[in-house]
Amino acid sequence: APPVRRTIRRSDDPAMTEPGELPPFGHFIDGRFHPGSSDRAMNVINPSDGEPFARVVEGTAEDVDHAVTAATAAKCSWRAKTPKQRSEILHRIADRIEEHAEPLARLESANTGKPLLVSRDDVAQAVDTFRFMAGAARALTQAPAGEYVDQHLSVMLREPLGVVGVITPWNYPLLMAVWKIAPILAAGNTCVLKPSEQTPLTTLRLAELCADLVPSGVLNIVTGDGPVVGQRLADHPRIDMVALTGSVGAGRSIARTAATSLKRVHLELGGKAPVLVFPDADLAAAAAALRTAGFWNSGQECGAACRVLVHASVAAEFTERLVHEAGTLVIGDPAAGDDIEIGPLVSRTHFERVSRYLDNARTEGVVAALGGAPDDGRGYFVPPTVLAHVPAGAECTREEIFGPVVTVETFRDEDEAVLRANETPYGLSASIWTDDARRALTIPGRLDFGTVWVNSHLVLASEVPWAGFKASGYGRDLSVYALDDYSRTKHLMHHRGR
Ligand code: NAD
Repeated sequence: APPVRRTIRRSDDPAMTEPGELPPFGHFIDGRFHPGSSDRAMNVINPSDGEPFARVVEGTAEDVDHAVTAATAAKCSWRAKTPKQRSEILHRIADRIEEHAEPLARLESANTGKPLLVSRDDVAQAVDTFRFMAGAARALTQAPAGEYVDQHLSVMLREPLGVVGVITPWNYPLLMAVWKIAPILAAGNTCVLKPSEQTPLTTLRLAELCADLVPSGVLNIVTGDGPVVGQRLADHPRIDMVALTGSVGAGRSIARTAATSLKRVHLELGGKAPVLVFPDADLAAAAAALRTAGFWNSGQECGAACRVLVHASVAAEFTERLVHEAGTLVIGDPAAGDDIEIGPLVSRTHFERVSRYLDNARTEGVVAALGGAPDDGRGYFVPPTVLAHVPAGAECTREEIFGPVVTVETFRDEDEAVLRANETPYGLSASIWTDDARRALTIPGRLDFGTVWVNSHLVLASEVPWAGFKASGYGRDLSVYALDDYSRTKHLMHHRGR
């Protein structure tokens, strides 16, 4: 049957942002905004209508060098602060974000197209991440001091690394910036961050909001593109570590560049989360959970529940339930209402990329049980799509589509399910759905993914690590493990003398 056209609710004012709520023009370096070394600027687009609504500076390697000089100058006084002093600053940042939660959420939605319900959740999580890291900064674990060699006292110290370069993606611009900045500052480092060239606004606004709270030079933002500004961060000899959340291609390129100076590398890359549905699972609960976990942020989510593997005996029933659930998602401009659940994709390029995946699926004979075709009206909308009866090995089951597209494949037994789930080069997250205690306990151990949910998907907390295996990279976000990653251990050995 031809795809059913879904209604997309529109707004007359998709930008949702007053001019005074936009950040100042320029890079944020050494505590204030600077125009930068080039006179080139980049448009920032609203994906609901494809119209530019702000401009930011196109940064250069020289701008990065300026920011690194500021971050280097600030590092001694920042690391000399006690954990309590740093913690108090992080708490104040959390409070400041909370006070500006609503305009920040609107700005994020205007720049990314994400529904307000997603942006509000991002802002709330950003606040919680700062609060968690403010607490964790005071509880950094230290190995015990002791005498391990006769007459020698060993003391283990945890130290900051120095200056950390950060590169963030467009899907959660504010939240990914905060996932890096909070632990980096908590551990006593200073930071130079490059937001995605497509979505720089909330990161700049965050810097503006924190300008009177954080000492000058501790947090610096340079806008610009990956090959110029991002590569300079990876390459700069005075940057001690570079952290990226982004694609596998960017990760490889950054790791290669970082190898010249042997700086530490922290990578959170793509994902293709398998969802294993066993015949004993609560199918209604699983389908209802996937309504959110498969389509949150329009599927532009590295942990999205995008690849269902369901036991053949319950595949028809599960697919029907999933199609019904996803068919009720409310689509529209974020500005069209608080109940919008699916917004436009972030950019024309990404819209075309997702559209191409849908075309290829059709060419491979894959049938859309829901959606399946991009919208040809204003903005970059792709309605929620469920691709059913997908043959093993089809492109849509292998590649990260990063859109509101969930595929359904079938399996016949447990071993096949595990084997097929692990076939993906990614290793970020997976979920299993079962009421069988043995399965719930044994299958997660056989899955090569950094997070495995049982009867749940996409639920996170600041206390737990978010980190992938295989092509999903290395490096831990959130939790005390992030603080570990952004610090180094030093051993002091004192000879007691005679
Ligand atoms: P991207 O790799 O295109 O861009 C990410 C950032 O890297 C941007 O700031 C970009 O300018 C920069 N960049 C790109 N090429 C670069 C290069 N050669 N050198 C230095 N910097 C470079 O990714 P994206 O399209 O913005 O984001 C989507 C990707 O991010 C997806 O693959 C998604 O899975 C991944 N992601 C992962 C997580 C996670 O936690 N693992 C979270 C969110 C997004």
